[in-house]
Amino acid sequence: MKWKWKRDPWLIAIFGIIGTKAFDYFTGIPIIKYIAEGLSFLLKWLLVFLTFNIQIWWLLIAIGIILGGKYLIYKYGIFKPEFYHYRSDKFFVLQWEWSWKKIDGKWQVYNLHAKCPKCNTRLVPIENKLSDLICSRCAYSNVNDYEDEPRRISNLIYDNLTRKNYTFEQ
Ligand SMILES: [Zn+2]
Repeated sequence: MKWKWKRDPWLIAIFGIIGTKAFDYFTGIPIIKYIAEGLSFLLKWLLVFLTFNIQIWWLLIAIGIILGGKYLIYKYGIFKPEFYHYRSDKFFVLQWEWSWKKIDGKWQVYNLHAKCPKCNTRLVPIENKLSDLICSRCAYSNVNDYEDEPRRISNLIYDNLTRKNYTFEQ
């Protein structure tokens, strides 16, 4: 008589018990339990996602929000760079102040001006010579050939950025 293992009730019973015990044993191990639970959770959400009825206008709104957000970030520089708070520094004789403005997608020094060392009023150029500055309040004047000249100062500000040679108070 030919023995067929598949039909042997004893063997089936023994393997059945071992199999069930092994399954209980492995699913009882916390890590395996968590992995199994995690996989079934992911599968559940994948099914929810795949069977979700996405409306075209939802997609259009989502695209609109993304594009609008990108435009606002580009135009108004909502995310400020690290150097944004670097707005004041002493260069040669004078203390200079400026702000940053995004022009054509690039951060640029804006509203650069020197402060009077005596009374802290904004200095203005004497006639057309940019390097000769005078205080409107106390008449302090800084007349020099080149040192504290706005174009030079703005170049030095950019240079400080590339050298990371700047500090600021928040
Ligand atoms: Zn002054």
